[in-house]
Order: sequence, then C-alpha cells, then structure tokens
Amino acid sequence: MPGRAPYGYRYRDGGYQLYPEAAMVVRAFFDHFLLYGSLGSAVRHINRRFHCTFAVSTGRRWLTHPWYRRSEPPLLRGDEAAQVDRWLRRNRAFAPRAASAPRALSGLVRCRVCTQTLRVASAPPKYLYLRCYQCPRSPKCAALDYTKTLNAIIQRITLDLPQSFSRIDPGSLINLRSRLDQSIAQKESVLLQIPKLLAQDILDLPTADQRQGTLRQELSVLMAQRAALPPVNLESITQNLSIPQFWHDLSEPERRSYLREFLRGITLDPQHIPQSISLQFFF
Ligand SMILES: [Zn+2]
Repeated sequence: MPGRAPYGYRYRDGGYQLYPEAAMVVRAFFDHFLLYGSLGSAVRHINRRFHCTFAVSTGRRWLTHPWYRRSEPPLLRGDEAAQVDRWLRRNRAFAPRAASAPRALSGLVRCRVCTQTLRVASAPPKYLYLRCYQCPRSPKCAALDYTKTLNAIIQRITLDLPQSFSRIDPGSLINLRSRLDQSIAQKESVLLQIPKLLAQDILDLPTADQRQGTLRQELSVLMAQRAALPPVNLESITQNLSIPQFWHDLSEPERRSYLREFLRGITLDPQHIPQSISLQFFF
C-alpha cells in the first residue's frame, strides 16, 4: 500500500510492519471500544493511559480504517471488526444531535401510580425534570429532578444487573455464534474454490458469476446475523456496567443506547425515590 503508514505501523525494509509502541496504543483503543462501544470513552482511555492527546476524530478514523482490518498482521481481527461495526451501527441510531439529542431516560420510565410514561422536560435556564405525561391524577404526580433520578437509576442498575446477568445461559449464545462462524467459513471456502473450478472448465463463466453473487449475498446475511449477536465479552461488560463511574463517564446518548441494550423499561413511584425504582431487564 502506498503512502504514509497509518498509526501503529511503520515502513521498513521495503514493507510496512507493526510498530510495537504505537500498535499497543491502537490496540488498547480497540479493546476499550470493543467492550463499551463508546468512542469518546475509548479515546479518553488511551489519552489517560499513554499520556497522549488523540482527538476523537482520529479514533473515529481508526475504527473503520481498512488498514487495521486487512494488513498483515491485522490489529483488528474479523470477529472484532464485526463487533466494532455492530457498535457503530447501534450508536448511529443514537447519534448525538447537540441540544435536541434525546435524553437517556426519555420514553423509558413509567409511573407506577398513574401508569403514564414520564416525559423529560426542561425549565430555564438549565433545569431538567421528569414528569408523568398528561397525568390523570389530581393533584398531579410530583415532577422529579432529572439528574437525581438518573443517578438513582444508575445506582440501582449497578446493584441489580450482575444478578440479572447471572441468570443468562452463556452456552446458548456460544453455540449460536459458533454455528454462524461455521456457515460463514464454509461459504467463504466455496467462494475461494470458484476460480479453480472455472479454470478447470467445471463451471462456465455465467454460472460462476451467478454462484459467486449468491454466495456473497448469503455471506453478507450471515455476517449481519453474527454482528447482531450480543457482545462477545458479556461478562466483562457486566462487570463494568456495575461500576457507577463507568456510567458517569458516558455521554448522554451513549447512556441512552446502553440502557436500551439491557432494559425493557423502568417503573417507579415519584413519591418514593429511590426505593420504588424497579428495572425490567430483557433477560
Ligand atoms: Zn404519575
């Protein structure tokens, strides 16, 4: 590949090779992003750990740079690249749009007293609160301070999540993943044989083209299925989601996407915070 080597590699003896010190930084960045899916948090992590000053835009480039995926040796393996793409796809659905970005809790919390969904509302200058939408009660349910409620909910998550996770069967997930891996490997090997079959006149050109097209299509479906599986390192993620500091380090859109990854909903009684907070996990 012509041009300057991307960070983590260097040009030497007529070829590009890993530059260990820099490769370690890029790898630490990927490791962090693979676990948490947070670009900002991964960049902050390497800047803190290696005393450097990478910009978020640099990290964003690394995540999709073909070099890290295709060069020999790659800094990002195929399954890891799929996981990166999965995070990116999910994060795109929750792209930060400055002030109009949806708050982490909006649409997620329901009032146990009046059964209404709580809406996030703001009052000048910067006060944010949660209140039952079109509350039918009289007097209406009390409005809650947004930040205090969010903190109480995070606190509850860090207590309840480990227990809830311990009930999932990791075996079923591993089986599904390995079945998909096998199908992908099988289709890839058939794809590799087509040029040979063509050269031996076993396949003619139109048939080979058609077969190749079908295989590529099937492969992309399988890859998408694989990318949609829950994160590989479920256990390490749980450990970290159980640390309040982790939640406080996230941006509001990141928090929003995380909450939706694990929670079907949250119910509470506005009069009794935090005791009344109850979490409904997906598992
Ligand atoms: Zn209410």
